[in-house]
Amino acid sequence: MSRDPRFDILFEPVAIGPVTAPNRFFQVPHASGATNAMPRVRAGLRGIKAEGGWGVVCTGACSIHPSCDDAPLPYATLWDEDDIRAHALMTDAVHEHGALAGVELFHGGGAVLNRATRLPPVSPSGKGWMATHTTFMSSLRPRAMDASDLRDLVRWQGEAARRAKRAGFDIVYVYAGMGYLPYEFLLPEYNERTDAYGGSIANRVRIVQEMLDATRDAVGGDVAVALRISLEELRGRPGESDETEAHEAIRLLSPHTDLLDVKMDSSPTDCGPSRFREEGAHEPVVDFVKSRTDKPVVGVGRFTSPDAMVSQIRRGVLDMVGAARPSIADPFLPRKIEEGREDEIRECIGCNMCIASWHEGVLVRCTQNPTFGEEWRRGWHPERARPAGSKDRVLIVGGGPAGLECALTLGRRGYAVTVAEAGRELGGRLLFEAALPGLSAWRRVVDYRLGRLAQMPTVEVFTESPLDADQILEFGFERVVIATGSHWARDLYSDLEVPVEASDHPAIFTPDDLAAGKAPAGKTVVFDFDGYVMGGLVAERLVEQGTDVTYITPAGGASVWTVNSNEQPYVHRRLEEAGVAVRTLERVAAFEGQTLTLAHIFTGSARTLDCDALVVVGARRSNTALFDELQARRAEWEGAGIKSVDLTGDALAPGAVAHAVYFGRGTAEALDGEPLEVFLRDAPFYTDRDLDRLIPKARIA
Ligand code: ADP
Ligand code: SF4
Repeated sequence: MSRDPRFDILFEPVAIGPVTAPNRFFQVPHASGATNAMPRVRAGLRGIKAEGGWGVVCTGACSIHPSCDDAPLPYATLWDEDDIRAHALMTDAVHEHGALAGVELFHGGGAVLNRATRLPPVSPSGKGWMATHTTFMSSLRPRAMDASDLRDLVRWQGEAARRAKRAGFDIVYVYAGMGYLPYEFLLPEYNERTDAYGGSIANRVRIVQEMLDATRDAVGGDVAVALRISLEELRGRPGESDETEAHEAIRLLSPHTDLLDVKMDSSPTDCGPSRFREEGAHEPVVDFVKSRTDKPVVGVGRFTSPDAMVSQIRRGVLDMVGAARPSIADPFLPRKIEEGREDEIRECIGCNMCIASWHEGVLVRCTQNPTFGEEWRRGWHPERARPAGSKDRVLIVGGGPAGLECALTLGRRGYAVTVAEAGRELGGRLLFEAALPGLSAWRRVVDYRLGRLAQMPTVEVFTESPLDADQILEFGFERVVIATGSHWARDLYSDLEVPVEASDHPAIFTPDDLAAGKAPAGKTVVFDFDGYVMGGLVAERLVEQGTDVTYITPAGGASVWTVNSNEQPYVHRRLEEAGVAVRTLERVAAFEGQTLTLAHIFTGSARTLDCDALVVVGARRSNTALFDELQARRAEWEGAGIKSVDLTGDALAPGAVAHAVYFGRGTAEALDGEPLEVFLRDAPFYTDRDLDRLIPKARIA
């Protein structure tokens, strides 16, 4: 197939200062969870994007000095010579496929707490960043920078830039975004300085100019200098000589950089969940940038549609289509457009499991792309899978995300696969979940897989086919995979904070009851000790249906885990708009109809509430009955020709869709290969200097 000519513009080369990107697809710096201690994993996950056609591939935020220590969040370093080799592995992997490699050098200032290096944090006027947000909370606060600190900062940037060049990077960033140090200079709320670095916008951008100039001095004429800048707050501030301070900042900084990478100010607005922020949501803030610069502009917007990308370029919003999440969900997105296969794009669903992984301090996981981060350590590829190890026929019971991913991988491997789904439609839990308020994009998990499976001659899919153990033993497939999902339990929550059996009162509901069409009547309490999205979504849905809803949780906020996925602020806003009363730090101790007994989670003090119906969003349990029966009848397997019965997805361990998809892939890989517990473990590079330092000490110890 060949490319649609209307997308030709996406494949034009773009000059970025002294270097040229082969096309307009720009994988902007994004967190991956892979630090310098995982150099091969990192090279694998960046290299795959270059293979997939991204013209520029950047590594994630890379600290320039030990006074910028973001632990426990994963971050890279270019602190000294010893860090160079780890990055060189990544730049080699990117260059191998003809792409440019970029590095986002950063100093976190008051937004990093130096928990590991224990150096005093610094900021323009001694102010911390978002002190109420768990990952920014600390018992230590930054000190105000003096003139020598400013000189040091500029010098550290230059030194790190020099190392970046030696590591093979083609584009070196100054990062003035998202609460990090140079950004803190841009905002008067953080910057109360009375010297040449505070006051007017010309003064507040000065440190950024100096860092850009120091970068250029360090990298010379053959590496490009890039600026990443957040514009949301500045756009809201009237300018002195131009429309807003954002306009002035771009005009002042443009001559010092080869590229402008523009973004929003905080993670929830920059990397907003699709539930609350649509594709292209940044445009109203960044649309002016090209009018104030002659340098190429890159920006993001969770773009997955090539038409939306072309429109951004044609309308003069961006020169290069930036992507973080769409490039994680589909590293081969550009290649698919280039080859006229855009219907095969695995579109990001905007669930933010990826950013949540970073907030949890681990390697990024993706709902749509289970291979992300597994390229090196497990040898998984987002588009291919190794050939089948046998001619065994595989029966997969259950057509939810896990069953479909397992079928897709096995189909790619060339296995003959039969999927049997009890329901009328494929998609499992997502049939209900994707119909909840704002989650329609989640349906893409099912649609992508069904689209691919339809092209596979060796895969057959049957709906309305509930299977029992007798049938499975009778069919005689050599391999059986059980992907029967999980269910929500009616359990309440004990004072030991453990799910315990609830009463069987008929006015107690679970999300599964709602999925089955049952509706609570009268005053309804949603009791959420799951903490992910379901509790908030159920409350929203019930309000839409005209129900009077109170949301109660033992946690400190609604959908508390979603602070990780950038959803929590929006969840609270949405519940407030919907008129849902939110009560925190309480658990439902008992419900016998009409009256709910609540207990404070810390003090135990009891109170009651009038209530007609209770929806419990708490524990989930795996549906293992079919698997258990087959295990109990193991003696019959041989006679039936069955070699293995595996459990996968939520039936293996109930969780977010990302885990179910991952288990589905893992089961398909393990059918004739390594089980999930076997993978390569990455290790940092040790230099001779390190070994001299480390080994004798280790011996003494
Ligand atoms: P997962 O996220 O692990 O894929 P889901 O709950 O989304 O789990 O999907 C499980 C699917 O398995 C559901 O669509 C359900 O109808 C189906 N299922 C459960 N038991 C059987 C069975 N005995 N035979 C066929 N399909 C089944
Ligand atoms: Fe998109 Fe979700 Fe994957 Fe992140 S985890 S890239 S939001 S599909």
